[in-house]
Amino acid sequence: MTRTAEKNNSIRTCLACGAERRREDLVRFVVAAGGITPDWRGVLPGRAVYACPTPACLDRFCRLRRFPDRFFSGAPVFAVPRENMMAWVQERAEESLLHFLRLARKSGALMPGQNAARAVTAPAAVLISRDTAERTASLVMRGLPDGTVIIRWGTKQRLGAALGLRPLGVAAIAASPLASRIVHYASIANLFGQES
Ligand SMILES: [Zn+2]
Repeated sequence: MTRTAEKNNSIRTCLACGAERRREDLVRFVVAAGGITPDWRGVLPGRAVYACPTPACLDRFCRLRRFPDRFFSGAPVFAVPRENMMAWVQERAEESLLHFLRLARKSGALMPGQNAARAVTAPAAVLISRDTAERTASLVMRGLPDGTVIIRWGTKQRLGAALGLRPLGVAAIAASPLASRIVHYASIANLFGQES
């Protein structure tokens, strides 16, 4: 495969802001007969358009009154209306986050517990629940090598339950493709989240 073919295969353009990003980093929408259906997992057949997973781009996307002529002419009808879009994305992002956390746990890439953050050699990311005390959080962070991504997300209860464990405040994720998906979906969940 040539470089160009590879690029064409994986790079898509956000219809709202024009940014070019990797396909898996955008939200996919399938276009059929003037209907615009969000396709979070990227599995629905059909022509597709893309938008950045940010409140600004999705809001602008949902306000589009015209799509490029190659899709259709006339006013688009959105399967998820604008007023529900932010909540919809947040729910999908959290589902994906939990899915990848479970996968990471199953494959041994995720180690639960405060000590794990130190025990994992060069963890790619450390997830700390929002209800972990600041003092504990800064203790955990102090020991981490430069470049470790810190994610604050969820509660001890949710994080533990997601992994089939007791309430859990800290989990370390070893460098792996799963780690980058976890960081990706956690940042989207936080971006759209209502929790402070
Ligand atoms: Zn965009």
